[in-house]
Amino acid sequence: MKLPTQKTKIVCTIGPASRSHTILKRMIQSGMSVARVNMAHGDLDTQKENIRRIRSAATRLNRPVSILMDLPGPKIRIGKLHNEGLILRKGSRLTLTTRDVPGTTSLLPVQYPDFPRSVYKRGIVYLNDGFIQLRVQDISDDDVICKVIVGGSLFSHKGLNLPKSKLAPDPVTEKDLELLSFGLEQRVDIFGLSFVEKAEDIVKVKEFAQKKGKSIRVVAKIERAEAVRNIDGILEVADAIMIARGDLGVQVPMQDVPMIQKKLIRKANLQGRPVITATQMLESMVDNVRPTRAEATDVANAILDGTDAVMLSEETAIGKYPVETVKTMSRIAVSVERQRGLIHLSSDVEEYFRRGDGRKRISVEDVVSLNVVDALRALRIRFVLIPTLGGSTPRRVSRFKPDCWVLAFCHSEAMCRFLTLSYGVLPVLLSEKVDNWHNQMLLYMRDSRLAKVGDKVVLAEGISIGQFDGADSMRIAAVN
Ligand code: PEP
Repeated sequence: MKLPTQKTKIVCTIGPASRSHTILKRMIQSGMSVARVNMAHGDLDTQKENIRRIRSAATRLNRPVSILMDLPGPKIRIGKLHNEGLILRKGSRLTLTTRDVPGTTSLLPVQYPDFPRSVYKRGIVYLNDGFIQLRVQDISDDDVICKVIVGGSLFSHKGLNLPKSKLAPDPVTEKDLELLSFGLEQRVDIFGLSFVEKAEDIVKVKEFAQKKGKSIRVVAKIERAEAVRNIDGILEVADAIMIARGDLGVQVPMQDVPMIQKKLIRKANLQGRPVITATQMLESMVDNVRPTRAEATDVANAILDGTDAVMLSEETAIGKYPVETVKTMSRIAVSVERQRGLIHLSSDVEEYFRRGDGRKRISVEDVVSLNVVDALRALRIRFVLIPTLGGSTPRRVSRFKPDCWVLAFCHSEAMCRFLTLSYGVLPVLLSEKVDNWHNQMLLYMRDSRLAKVGDKVVLAEGISIGQFDGADSMRIAAVN
């Protein structure tokens, strides 16, 4: 068994640039542990085939790779363009229409029937995460005539934002529920919910799945000011969060995004919820084989902030260098992970539980997780072994970002795949028939050659040996 190169998890969006067997395999080998299928793009047949190929590549390489299906939510998008990479020039006139026409530099289709009712004269329309800006000049039943105030190049199905307009009352659309049903049929591992406002939005999709006899894991995409305000409630019901900086940077002032990122990551860490930092992380690699220094630093800073996972969007979906981008991200992660202990940058979450407010409502599992990291550090142990049902103990240890691997022994494939999102967690599937988990975990270490006979490991488990979850004991054992 070979350990992954980096502990930070890499989420890659799959698109035309990365859907071939060869590229998928190379991306997995380079560090991808979560494949994101973005349902805002591609038809159902294409996405179904993408899912099949991702699974086949992961099976061939014998690596746990989970599939994150991203539901688009009430995001307004432009339609299909006549030619890709269309250039909109500053000062030109452009009609946005709800009619189904091929997009050109003078007429752009918008996939939202109520669009003319959602804008007002002299208001600003943002395209492509705000890179292009238009000013509304005239409005009719189907058309909105605009002037380009900031130009740029545009591709089909790019997003359109109207930050001051309340787009749709419900972040969960009928279309999302249809796509969710499709995702359930495809047995995807995790669903991404866009434009979440509050905890109830997540409960709604979970209940919808439950009515169909399924229990699902949901990543709440935080991209609205309301979601930032309601983050505590959202973290209680969501299985993970994504800091969706693309839309967030249009919905809230751009300059607020860095601090929001830090606050959200910290809150997710305290709750032991996985957190993904997303969008434009290595954006320039869409066209270039090397990133900018600022991008490399952005990835590093997100890891130092405590993110579990970093995400690639266009870089791997339509970029020229999908594999090289994953490798670059992995290299940055390795460099940061090696040095994070030296500069004590991620100790804030530990401090919260050791001496801060976390002390007031500390749980047995929190105390065990602190003892685990103390033992790992004091004895320079490289592995902690945890049998788990719901993944909570491995995540409690992982949030402290110790310099070790957390082996989470699961008896369900679904749990194994969900843990592909958590920093430094290596999920291991063991058969349900195991009587003695304790011995079985130690045997696994020896047989997989991750450790040698005599090597010390830390075990965190329930009081009756092998009990899943809710660890209330820690012991140090030697592999025998
Ligand atoms: C984002 O807005 O940053 C994001 C990840 O969402 P999407 O790619 O669906 O626009």
